[in-house]
Amino acid sequence: MPGRLQDRVAVVTGAASGIGLATVRRFAAEGAKVVCVDIDAEAGRSAAEEVDGSFVAADVADEAAVRALFDGVVERYGRVDIAFNNAGISPPDDDSILETGLDAWERVLRVNTTSVYLCCKYVIPHMRRQGRGSIINTASFVALMGAATSQIAYTASKGGVLALTRELGVQFAREGIRVNALCPGPVATPLLRELFAADPERAARRLVHVPMGRFGEPSEIAAAVAFLASDDASFMTAAQFVVDGGITGAYVTPL
Ligand code: NAD
Repeated sequence: MPGRLQDRVAVVTGAASGIGLATVRRFAAEGAKVVCVDIDAEAGRSAAEEVDGSFVAADVADEAAVRALFDGVVERYGRVDIAFNNAGISPPDDDSILETGLDAWERVLRVNTTSVYLCCKYVIPHMRRQGRGSIINTASFVALMGAATSQIAYTASKGGVLALTRELGVQFAREGIRVNALCPGPVATPLLRELFAADPERAARRLVHVPMGRFGEPSEIAAAVAFLASDDASFMTAAQFVVDGGITGAYVTPL
């Protein structure tokens, strides 16, 4: 549907890879001017070049960097219509609560949850001035259901994203600002693909719970983000938008 985001100014964090990169491409295909943000300068710059957008190197957990990011976007483009707060990490030292140290816990909370707090804190004043804006925060299906293959900090971090998104959606609903949480199911990003190719049993342990019997593609998540960003979702705010191949609805899956 080209043109649905025509000339909208969209900021995408975690733009260099996976869901963020697929969304950069989708936003651009629908007409948006895309500002790519990532801590990985090389891959982030190449994402921006691909769509004729701009690139900002920033650590989204750094308050001064996030404030400068949104102020800079408004200075350059005059406005900011869409913020896709998507950067996140899932490091191997985040595991069972019995193994996970305070260092991993704090690092994951900082990158996954504090970053969303900061991005919302510094984009909302601009959107209030404009009287419109769409914010999409990336949570996860693990914010909605438990796993015995625990990553305790990650799960807690995404629960936080979901709760803060709901609250912001309610608080700013009458000011033209929509704030929604995206809850992807397991997605076949390069990292996950590599991990599961090396360990098929680990993949099977997870795939059995997905009614569709496969992981999602980043482009399938990007399509949902573009919907939430666009006026097609004009009556949606404070929602948890689940795009998960049916995993959160399942008890027994098809053979
Ligand atoms: P990815 O690792 O492919 O991409 C994440 C990007 O974020 C990378 O480019 C990385 O450089 C960037 N990044 C990391 N820390 C950053 C920081 N401090 N500042 C700026 N950029 C930073 O990951 P992905 O799978 O595309 O995940 C994107 C989001 O979707 C994450 O929030 C993740 O938790 C969430 N998610 C992923 C899945 C999945 O199965 N892949 C499922 C549900 C939710």
